[in-house]
Amino acid sequence: MSKTIFSKIIDKEIPADIVYEDDLVLAFRDIAPQAPVHILVIPKKPILNLKYVELEDQELLGHLLLSVKKIAQQQGLANGYRVVINNGQDAGQTVDHLHLHILAGRSLQWPPG
Ligand code: 5GP
Repeated sequence: MSKTIFSKIIDKEIPADIVYEDDLVLAFRDIAPQAPVHILVIPKKPILNLKYVELEDQELLGHLLLSVKKIAQQQGLANGYRVVINNGQDAGQTVDHLHLHILAGRSLQWPPG
């Protein structure tokens, strides 16, 4: 399988505005922000989306959410934020590497389109 754009960002083959990194996850600003703050949080392990997670990924999935909390604190998102995971075609997933969107900095509508 060829490398996704996010794997290339993880391997620093293409640049990104990285806001957080540790052994397991990377977070960087979305190239086409849909809100004043739009950050993508991804596992370094190349999982396509939630359909492909396994029991062995349990700790990693928890780590992703704890990373979201850490990033939200670092970014000062005191007024709140939305976390979105698009899975598959109908959800509009465009990059085949699991990613959590953090959206903040404006009042967000519900339900999403
Ligand atoms: P999806 O639509 O799959 O849920 O989200 C993919 C996101 O990745 C989109 O919001 C898109 O703007 C972002 N994206 C796609 N290519 C790049 C890139 O090369 N760099 C960055 N920083 N974001 C990207």
